[in-house]
Amino acid sequence: ILQLYGPLNLFGTSYRSLQKNFIDMEKMLDLFKEPVEIQDQPDAKPLVMTGGGEVVFENVSFGYSPQYPNLKNISFKIPHGKKLALVGPSGGGKSTILRLLFRFYDPTEGRILIDGQDIKTVIQSSLRRKIGIVPQDTALFNETIGYNIGYGKIGQDHAQVFDPSWSTLLQSRRGSSGSLENVSGVRRVSLNSKSTKSVRRGRKHKSEPPSSSPDTAGITDGDEDADIEGEDVDCDDDNDWEDDVRIQAAAEAARIHEIISRFPDGYATRVGERGMRLSGGEKQRVAIARTILKNPPILLLDEATSALDTQTEREIQNSIESISKDRTTLMIAHRLSTIVDADEILVIQKGEIVEQGSHVELMQAGGIYAAMWMRQLRDDRTPIASGLSSQKE
Ligand code: ATP
Repeated sequence: ILQLYGPLNLFGTSYRSLQKNFIDMEKMLDLFKEPVEIQDQPDAKPLVMTGGGEVVFENVSFGYSPQYPNLKNISFKIPHGKKLALVGPSGGGKSTILRLLFRFYDPTEGRILIDGQDIKTVIQSSLRRKIGIVPQDTALFNETIGYNIGYGKIGQDHAQVFDPSWSTLLQSRRGSSGSLENVSGVRRVSLNSKSTKSVRRGRKHKSEPPSSSPDTAGITDGDEDADIEGEDVDCDDDNDWEDDVRIQAAAEAARIHEIISRFPDGYATRVGERGMRLSGGEKQRVAIARTILKNPPILLLDEATSALDTQTEREIQNSIESISKDRTTLMIAHRLSTIVDADEILVIQKGEIVEQGSHVELMQAGGIYAAMWMRQLRDDRTPIASGLSSQKE
């Protein structure tokens, strides 16, 4: 029976994923039109990183609707540079924790503190500049690969402007593709119309002026799709070589430079719907490169549930390990083998922390986490999320 249950469960998950994809794409398009819900307080101050990025959740409760709490009394602390992993069944509230830290919503009760400052009282853009996101499925602009990597840096200075990484965090994650490949109306962003540059294979290229100014950049009504044409990587200073080198260095660190070098136009190769399709592993490396450029003290990681080949998975794991070093890291884990070294693990179920400790402590406790391990060992080809969903159903 157990042998049969796995494939059936997987089939169910895939069917729901398919169904959900359509809904999520609609939801995502709706989100683009919505104004930012959370407003800065009139006396909001910039977030100051006095302790290097210590994150504290203090008795946090939250519900997407007032009558139903999706998180109940969540408390934890991630000291500067440490890694905390969230595991647990689908729908338990892991992504919601990340969304609250990024301040897409405010808690209904409790506080979230970064270096002792309640994030409710800080300027949102200053908060978001300090947080990098590597989602499990990165959204791409219909743009060059260079632009897509450089966007992390651009997004840093235009934190209120739509950032592709946020879309995948914003929406309910299950079964979503999180891709911008089919989304029109997202304009390319330029920081400084006088210093637009292109990154091409090993040479400088001065391009046409950018199609949008910082004032108008961001989300449009969808009629201006043509504006996203172009091959430029917009940069905020006048040093072509430095930017070129930075983008390539980030790509190298994310182990995608060699892949890009084989593209027909190198960094000027168009990706997305109207260009080259990137694999899941390549997209995740783009997100890692973006994050390397952004260089945030706090990192949110959402490990991919989709199966990657072993070699790619190991390479991505290595890059993730190197970027999370010395950064305060909050990660959603689906493969338990990747979090053995986490400083702390929280098992989240139905909006509550049901177990908390290091891998060794939780294994010794012989509770839910230990059972999840046993299940994963039994079928190490099945991502843990699929195994877990059987708990819920
Ligand atoms: P998964 O591993 O499947 O991504 P998760 O643990 O990350 O699950 P969340 O995405 O945080 O879970 O969702 C927690 C609960 O909140 C779920 O019941 C989900 O259906 C609900 N939820 C998520 N987003 C919304 C939303 N925008 N509006 C209403 N309910 C939502």
